[in-house]
Amino acid sequence: MISLIYDETYLKHRSSTYHVENPERLKIVLKALEGRTIIKPKPVDEEDVKLIHNEDYVKLVKVASQMGEPLDADTYTNEFTWSSALLALGGSYVAFQNDAFALVRPPGHHAGISGRAMGAPTLGFCIFNNVAYPIVKLKLKKVLIIDFDVHYGNGTQEIFWENPDVVHIDIHQDPRTLYPGTGFPDMIGGGEARGTKINLIIPPLGGDDLYEELIPIIQSVIDDYKPSYIVYSAGFDGFEDDGLANLRATEWTYYNLGLLSRGYKRFAVLEGGYTVGLERGSRAFVNGLENENVTYQKNPSSDSVRSKFRDTLYQARRILRDYWKI
Ligand SMILES: [Zn+2]
Repeated sequence: MISLIYDETYLKHRSSTYHVENPERLKIVLKALEGRTIIKPKPVDEEDVKLIHNEDYVKLVKVASQMGEPLDADTYTNEFTWSSALLALGGSYVAFQNDAFALVRPPGHHAGISGRAMGAPTLGFCIFNNVAYPIVKLKLKKVLIIDFDVHYGNGTQEIFWENPDVVHIDIHQDPRTLYPGTGFPDMIGGGEARGTKINLIIPPLGGDDLYEELIPIIQSVIDDYKPSYIVYSAGFDGFEDDGLANLRATEWTYYNLGLLSRGYKRFAVLEGGYTVGLERGSRAFVNGLENENVTYQKNPSSDSVRSKFRDTLYQARRILRDYWKI
């Protein structure tokens, strides 16, 4: 069974008023995945945060946390935000060392080099980019990140935009209909890294059958690239009725995403997921990671949704075919 990375410090980052990104989230996942070994993380040093974020942003987070001031309209802090965020980076690092699943807060994939990334209006509840940290700290090569949170992982993509050693596949709801408003298939990375950033879009109300069409594409990239590491930015907010978005994925999708890393060295870091996705999505994902033999039913999309999906997928393939056998 896969080990989990967790520490109670992750519960201390909380808003003084109700917020969807709250400590209960981790309690839901822990319960869904109970019975597994829990490994405690160590916090990283302030200097190490500067490997992925610029100095001004690191200072801004530290001061905001001391004052308990929000960073923007979506992203709160309190006196424990700073220590929780340093420990979340450490959690991702220990997940790498143990091929484990880091159950951390605050989340990270929207946090870019100087905070808000790729023109995003806010940080979207994220503080430091957890998933990026071990990759940058250890200068890992031949990395393949699969970000299946329903929102575009704009921060992660920005950090690795010109890094050809990191392939970043991001599956998300059509950004014309959801925060952060970018993450289109023609965003493929810059400089030497052109073609290493892959954005795959699902229209609102898309279900498991659309993910089913994306999984062989991801599989071909994996087969072609033969990564040394597969890293999951694991968000479960694409699960039907999870609350913040409009997709209709169910266990089938998360299980099959977990199966994709069979035979590879891999680790996972929690991103979003707010209610039912955290419970049912995380369990199915881990069943996939653990190569359990389980059968799930697919939640299908309507014909009109499928047809919209195929239009954008056609465009994405046309762009990506210059770089990949898809
Ligand atoms: Zn999300």
